[in-house]
Amino acid sequence: MPARSRNLGPASWLVSAGRPERPGASVNTPPVPVSNYRLGAGRVYARADGSPTWEALEAVVGGLEGGEAVAFASGMAAVAAVFDELPVGSRVALPEDCYHGVAKVAEAGRQKGRWALERIAVTDTASWVAACRSCQLVWLESPSNPLLQVADLAAICRAPRPPGATLAVDNTFATPLNQRPLALGADVVVHSATKLIGGHSDLLAGVLAVRDPGQRGRYVGARERRGGTPGVLEAYLAVRGARTLALRLERAQANAGELAERLTADRRVEQVRYPGLPDDPGHALARAQLGGFGTIVSFVVRGGGAAADALCGRLELVVHATSLGGVESTIERRGAQAGQEHIPPGLLRLSVGIEDVEDLWHDLDAALQAADATNGG
Ligand SMILES: *Cc1c(COP(=O)(O)O)cnc(C)c1O
Repeated sequence: MPARSRNLGPASWLVSAGRPERPGASVNTPPVPVSNYRLGAGRVYARADGSPTWEALEAVVGGLEGGEAVAFASGMAAVAAVFDELPVGSRVALPEDCYHGVAKVAEAGRQKGRWALERIAVTDTASWVAACRSCQLVWLESPSNPLLQVADLAAICRAPRPPGATLAVDNTFATPLNQRPLALGADVVVHSATKLIGGHSDLLAGVLAVRDPGQRGRYVGARERRGGTPGVLEAYLAVRGARTLALRLERAQANAGELAERLTADRRVEQVRYPGLPDDPGHALARAQLGGFGTIVSFVVRGGGAAADALCGRLELVVHATSLGGVESTIERRGAQAGQEHIPPGLLRLSVGIEDVEDLWHDLDAALQAADATNGG
């Protein structure tokens, strides 16, 4: 990658990072299916030494986060590599509200006696600062999934921690366009590239980004040992998706802000969680910390689980599906999932896409009507 690219704005970086520069080369990095290389030039085997397609994805995300990246088969493969690097007998701090898959990994390791686990409320900054002194892994996710709580990343990332301790931030919801935790002092940034980076609901991939090249080597080693390598097509599609991330985010974020306001004003809705709303408990911090308020809106529909299910059943444009961050809007009742009992039963997590906002509102309005009918109108 030419050095000049480091000075590009984020949208230009997304378009140009990781592409071949030789005259006659294809404009973009093609998918290069490879397991092994001709010996004599350093590279031996892809699981250990990487591949041109993964490296394009690593260049795109690493540069945007202000560090060096390692691509994985999924967000969870990246998460597992961080936990796997912990010495036995460590102490881990995890948010009370975070991606349920991360909570499962942390809980499974605790049950096996590999580490002690402490759960801390996302907004309890004093407890996070204290955890930085006592934990080998401090895991943050902000805004959190699915309650969209905002952690004071700047305060927590600059809290003193012992040598060798790791502070990791899951930046999946914010994307590096809205928030760059490495610059605040985090050691590791975690992405499910399945979500906004890929952006088309057609791949699974994950990325870790670190400030320190030595630490990158550790995670490359973890990937080699665990075998959590990305597929060539997935890495290619993730880069292709990332090329338009800035545009997609801008549009989806504008749609999300508009829908959050309309939902807040609607009597069929009990509560809306979106850090962009002036009355949201995380708003002041979000305004200081985030470049934009994101594409996810969580809201509680009047009438609880039954009303929320009726709403999902009535939608036509918004897809009733799990996951998030695609060009298409999706919605899910997270409280219906096992292990998600802290979530209000009527809470819906809406991942807002890039459709015309009036079409999205028309769809939601009709579905809210169907939900309200379960309350007797
Ligand atoms: C989806 C998700 C993950 C896990 O990523 P996969 O690609 O599904 O393995 C981790 N963190 C957050 C915040 C997510 O939304």
